[in-house]
Amino acid sequence: MSPIDEEQLQGLQGVRDFLRIRTSYDVLPLSFRLIVLDNDLLIRKSLSILIQNNIVSAPLWDSHNGRFAGLLTSTDFINVIQYYNQFPEQIDNVEKFRLSSLRDIEKAINVQTLETVSVHPGRPLYEACSRMLRSRARRIPLVDVDDETGRETVVSVITQYRILKFIAVNTEQHTSLMKKTIREINLGTYTDLATCKMTDSVLDVINSMVVRNISAVPVIDKNNVVLNVFEAVDVIPCIKGGAYEELKSTVGEALAQRPEDFPGIYTCQEDDRLDSIFQTVRQSRVHRLVVIDDDWHLKGILSLSDILKYVLFYGEEGEYFPHT
Ligand code: ATP
Repeated sequence: MSPIDEEQLQGLQGVRDFLRIRTSYDVLPLSFRLIVLDNDLLIRKSLSILIQNNIVSAPLWDSHNGRFAGLLTSTDFINVIQYYNQFPEQIDNVEKFRLSSLRDIEKAINVQTLETVSVHPGRPLYEACSRMLRSRARRIPLVDVDDETGRETVVSVITQYRILKFIAVNTEQHTSLMKKTIREINLGTYTDLATCKMTDSVLDVINSMVVRNISAVPVIDKNNVVLNVFEAVDVIPCIKGGAYEELKSTVGEALAQRPEDFPGIYTCQEDDRLDSIFQTVRQSRVHRLVVIDDDWHLKGILSLSDILKYVLFYGEEGEYFPHT
């Protein structure tokens, strides 16, 4: 094994050991707010609450049984949109749907129900992270049980983003050993990329996100030059106030609705080393990186799950499953 390979493995091992001795509690800020939505709330109202509070997901609470009832995410709104498109005659009912009907909507449009795995906040972070990656969830609720009443409490939700940031900020001594380029370790997706044009309809892009089970689609021009990235969360402002017709609008129009402080997209190149990717994650709000060449041509996409899977599972026998 070359010294660079050895160092890389040493760095990976260091991060894994760190994740085994830290818990999900450690990732949470000292003080934070948590907005939990009652499962009886109208879907339409839940959307306004997310927008008002500037959040893109929330845990659901079944107040009849005093139980955690899953997570509301932009995928649920995308499902409602799909439902509306498949059953346009149901538009009046769509307005009346409550969050508790989300599972029925999934069944009606025949999408796979995402298993809502949760984890106890006191368990090792490694466990939370590997459960999240195996279930293909992008966030995992931390559910505790009250010793006295035996009732569940949702403590918080942790995301891939938060975990990767936590790793980047706290394990620089290990991540700085990862000197291999993303090309050398084949990190990210480079073939069969889902892309769109500024003039495509939002609805078409949503369809391709659902079919491919991805949450971002690079926007390119006719020369394959990257202009932007359309993200699943960009759907939320499009349908506020129940304006499902707005989905016929173009990607360009939808992107124009982004808040003024939208941080922009992040890019990298195939010859960038993993340590420099971690540096970007440490310094910025990165949710994915678009891989480009010197002239901004699209080469690939590097998602947070690609990085986390490599960091947790690469080299572990039978464990690494990069492109599932
Ligand atoms: P998130 O981006 O919400 O944090 P994630 O990290 O799981 O979630 P996804 O965008 O769902 O990222 O990506 C899942 C897999 O699909 C990854 O292996 C990623 O490289 C690949 N992928 C992401 N976007 C595209 C795309 N537009 N075309 C092809 N493959 C993609």
